Amino acid sequence: MSQQLLRRASSVQSRQFSSSPVAAAAADVKKLGVIGAGQMGLGIALVAAQKAQVPVLLVDTSQASIDKGLKFADKLLEKDVGKQRLTKDEAAAARERLTSTTSMDDLSGVDFVIEAVPEIPDLKSKIFSQLAQICPSHAILATNTSSISITKIAASTTTNPTDLSAPSRVISTHFMNPVPVQKGVEIITGLQTSQDTIDTAIAFCQKMGKIPSQSADSPGFLANRILMPYINEAIICLETGVGKKEDIDAIMKNGTNVPMGPLQLADFIGIDTCLAIMRVLYEETGDSKYRPAVLLKKMVDAGWYGKKSGKGFYDY
Ligand code: NAD
Repeated sequence: MSQQLLRRASSVQSRQFSSSPVAAAAADVKKLGVIGAGQMGLGIALVAAQKAQVPVLLVDTSQASIDKGLKFADKLLEKDVGKQRLTKDEAAAARERLTSTTSMDDLSGVDFVIEAVPEIPDLKSKIFSQLAQICPSHAILATNTSSISITKIAASTTTNPTDLSAPSRVISTHFMNPVPVQKGVEIITGLQTSQDTIDTAIAFCQKMGKIPSQSADSPGFLANRILMPYINEAIICLETGVGKKEDIDAIMKNGTNVPMGPLQLADFIGIDTCLAIMRVLYEETGDSKYRPAVLLKKMVDAGWYGKKSGKGFYDY
């Protein structure tokens, strides 16, 4: 590894960007692509259209997901108009900036792309190898992964590890759920990520009204390294009979002043996503403290993914 890469990797941990000005780099992002019209992708696309005011192309293999996502976007915009957070004209302008397609090839004209497909390593690798071929050679290729190594995703953009032209443009912009509400975003860099890529990603996230924190490429990064063992422990408390679900959620909600307890939060994030992240923490570190709760696995086997599937720890 070059000295430059080593310096970059070690500087990652210490840098905080919450108060840095929006760099000119953000202005270079004239068109955004978002892959995956699920709960995260749709939120990212809508906030970019509304706050950063750039045209956004939403890509999903499922037309049904696109239709559902855009209907939800209409509902959110309507709500904002009702609460006078937006004028009718501003809402209409944001909606007009959102277009959709089922073809990845249509990403050939974007300057920045954010991938938000399910947390499946092979699927992300396949998409990034496609993006390196389809997107312009200056485009930033960002992932919203909750747990997969950015270095590994970046490596899938090339067959020659010494050619950094595509891997240096790969980064993670890890938005928090729900995207229109949560201000935080984690910026995670792979070993190959260039400083230009970091600067542009930070600047664009700030233009979206978000507050970036930087994290090294380490299992779970910062947010999930801390959050998921907390949720997993709550599930172990439930499966071992330490407390009922209502009591577990109530004590954490009322005792730590958070908007919802850990089991309700797991339903909201997605039980399948929680399991995928715990598996990464467990497998990548080999540390038994990250063992996924048996009940977490059983719920995924049952198809009880939480709010998005209508059933999780609670019914929706
Ligand atoms: P989701 O299941 O709600 O949405 C995924 C979407 O991707 C679906 O609409 C699906 O049709 C689409 N898709 C599947 N394969 C595709 C392909 N090959 N090309 C294009 N689209 C495809 O998932 P989500 O909760 O939005 O999560 C997306 C990503 O964001 C995951 O990596 C997840 O770990 C991460 N994330 C999730 C949360 C959360 O709270 N849910 C928070 C932060 C990050």
